[in-house]
Amino acid sequence: MTNIPASAWQLIELAFGETRETPAVDKSTLAVPPISLTDAAMVSLRQIVGSDNVTTDNDSRISHTRGKSTTDLIKIRTGDLTDAPDAVVRPRDTDDVAAILAVCAEHTIAVVPYGGGTSVVGGLAAQSDGYTGVVALDLTHLNTFAVDHESRLATLGAGLLAPQAEKLLNEHGYTLGHFPQSFEYASIGGFAATRSSGQASSGYGRFDSMVKALTVVTPMGVLRLDAAPASATGPDLRQLILGSEGAFGIITDVTIAVRPQPAQRIYETWRFATFADGTRAMRKLTQDGLNPTVFRLSDEAETAINLAKPGSIGADNPGGCLMVAGYEGTPERVSRLHDDVTAALEESGGTSLGAEDGEHWAKGRYDGPYLRDALLDHGILTETLETATFWSRLHTTYVAVKEAIEAALAPYGNAVIVMCHISHVYESGASLYFTVVTKQHEDGIEQWSAAKKAASDAMIATGATITHHHAIGRDHKPWFAQEIGDIGVSVLRAVKQRIDPTGILNPGVLIP
Ligand SMILES: Cc1cc2nc3c(=O)[nH]c(=O)nc-3n(C[C@H](O)[C@H](O)[C@H](O)COP(=O)(O)OP(=O)(O)OC[C@H]3O[C@@H](n4cnc5c(N)ncnc54)[C@H](O)[C@@H]3O)c2cc1C
Repeated sequence: MTNIPASAWQLIELAFGETRETPAVDKSTLAVPPISLTDAAMVSLRQIVGSDNVTTDNDSRISHTRGKSTTDLIKIRTGDLTDAPDAVVRPRDTDDVAAILAVCAEHTIAVVPYGGGTSVVGGLAAQSDGYTGVVALDLTHLNTFAVDHESRLATLGAGLLAPQAEKLLNEHGYTLGHFPQSFEYASIGGFAATRSSGQASSGYGRFDSMVKALTVVTPMGVLRLDAAPASATGPDLRQLILGSEGAFGIITDVTIAVRPQPAQRIYETWRFATFADGTRAMRKLTQDGLNPTVFRLSDEAETAINLAKPGSIGADNPGGCLMVAGYEGTPERVSRLHDDVTAALEESGGTSLGAEDGEHWAKGRYDGPYLRDALLDHGILTETLETATFWSRLHTTYVAVKEAIEAALAPYGNAVIVMCHISHVYESGASLYFTVVTKQHEDGIEQWSAAKKAASDAMIATGATITHHHAIGRDHKPWFAQEIGDIGVSVLRAVKQRIDPTGILNPGVLIP
């Protein structure tokens, strides 16, 4: 039970009984497919970025194969390297990116922009059929940084990882304000390309709402989308690039609004009798303009599991639902917001549990998902999916998705735990984030696909979106097409055809 905390292990034994060892294959023994790029293409790529920045060794190719969805994890654990890129190319600046795209267009090479590699929707598994090869465009070297103090803007290289960006901003007294659970590994360009949303989105907003300007390299040339703070110049082209997952161009830098680094942070928890009671309270506060910086609510199942402590597992728990309310800012602002939110939550029927569990949540906020691989070693499958909808539909979607997952996994004959929390709130609605835990069947990919399909069908049937912040990738395309309809699909195809006529940009991703 390496790397699995004792409490989690006790819960697993309680829920699933005996487990079996299902170790991953040793990566050093894997057969990587032969490199299909022509010598001429390799020479041209090396001329642009230098030989050091074009790597074709097994480690580089394996480490840039796919992302971090359960399907991705299972495939790599079982030695499936069919999506391995032929080469990893590291551009040093925007000009390099433009030159690389020109070579790839000339040789019909698929280009997969690679930020932190944390996509969970198949965004890094490009289609290779019809191409002479696949290049992973690793953006690590795009790490420029500039601050406009007067406008409170920072222009960040797309390849900066979130911790690097946060450190640079902290040196100037600012914070990124964007803390997704993948914070430690994901990149600035990846956040923009997927419309990511962080755990403090109630206070700082989604990543796409922070973006004020972008540089994007397309096979047709470089687009600098650098508007005024607000503009009436027709449709906002930045919105076409945000969430485009590399299918319309390579984002090389992103200008975002930054906030002062908070002098104070407080995270507290609250208990509500039911998920419905807690949801009502969240809605009321959000609609009244009372937004804690972090605002989350676990349903009964997630609460029971989150509060389970070694030694007390299996004992009676007090039930109810746990809410996290976090406050960040100046001491004056934190104190004012804290007092107002506290009064409103009490009035809405909440019971304060103080700071202990809130601080515990904040400390472990990035830990949970990395258990997935360790759990797979023991035949336990853990995966998440998410959606968003308007408040008036939220309960219907919640019940429908939960029941759909349970029904789809029932034939596999093992216990299924489906937990949920509200992770991001808006005046008009909220997002629901589901975590599913069950014993892995012999074919874990087929098993998870059944659950994912059922959940996705339930989202669309209840009028919810197929994704609130994980993006489309390859995995969500069928439901994306249903969500935007035939006209929406034809608009996207027309843009793709115009901007990327040879179809080299992340083929198979995003466009239905
Ligand atoms: C453990 C875990 C927790 C997560 N938690 C969250 C969360 O809390 N909130 C959230 O929003 N997401 C979350 N995700 C999903 C993921 O982290 C986000 O989608 C993130 O924004 C991806 O950033 P990245 O740099 O890793 O991008 P990558 O995975 O490298 O790329 C994502 C997609 O964008 C494309 N792309 C990357 N960079 C560029 C670029 N510069 N230009 C054009 N296209 C580009 C890629 O080709 C790919 O299609 C989580 C994922 C994991 C594994």
